[in-house]
Amino acid sequence: MEYIVAFAEWSDEKILATCVRYGEEARKWKNRFLGLLPEVERRRLYVKKGFTSVVHFAQVVGGVSEAQVKRALSLHERFEETPALQNLLTSGEVSVNKLAKIASIAEPENEIFLADQVQMVSARALETLVRDAKYADPNFVHVNKSEPDHKLALAEDVEEGLAELQSRGIDIDAELRLFLEQRKVQIEAEKEKIGESCSETNSRYVPKEVRDVLAKEYGTKCSVPGCVRPSEELHHTQRFSMSKRHDPRYMALLCREHHQIAHSKDVRVQEMRARKRK
Ligand SMILES: [Zn+2]
Ligand SMILES: [Zn+2]
Repeated sequence: MEYIVAFAEWSDEKILATCVRYGEEARKWKNRFLGLLPEVERRRLYVKKGFTSVVHFAQVVGGVSEAQVKRALSLHERFEETPALQNLLTSGEVSVNKLAKIASIAEPENEIFLADQVQMVSARALETLVRDAKYADPNFVHVNKSEPDHKLALAEDVEEGLAELQSRGIDIDAELRLFLEQRKVQIEAEKEKIGESCSETNSRYVPKEVRDVLAKEYGTKCSVPGCVRPSEELHHTQRFSMSKRHDPRYMALLCREHHQIAHSKDVRVQEMRARKRK
């Protein structure tokens, strides 16, 4: 036999890169296999092969778990009215796992949008997308509606000071509203000043004063309302490659998932996808 692979001589990088590539291929083929199962079931082809059920057939022939088979079959049913999503499932183009994440909000009206998203963003970003969609939908019943996980915690001296003012008949709510309003105005002014004076640059490095003013505005959390994840990335709402400015008025601090979602609507990504499809 001539085919002997000398793994021992491969570099670490080569072995790791090959693992990643094989893993990707393996997942793709597994998806394709799962995508065929609804048809195997519809035609009862597993009987011809001597199996009692499509699950048994899939376990033996494809080495996939019972849970995966059941999930693929139920998605197939779920996507009956949404052919674009159905197509992603049966072609194996997108994993059953990812498709399952968006199944609860899939409708004929949004399926094209969802079909795009599911191909472009990570599984975690999809979870965020679904949560946002449900959050925005007034008809959606928030079953797990929990208390806001952040209660106001004041230092003892501040609490005492405010209580003292209140006991004197001073409207501390009005005072604090004023403080919040002033804070907003002040941050806006600061951003405007930085924005007006920032010049064009080719450097992706975001100046400290820009990062500081955004941190002042958003704190340590993602700027999307309702999102409580830490802000990890700085997003330019105007494409940096076009504007060439780090203008804080057009920047936002986002968590990784909301950043992905923001970019999935970006033309560049659409173009990239078109190229990949060719
Ligand atoms: Zn961005
Ligand atoms: Zn977020």
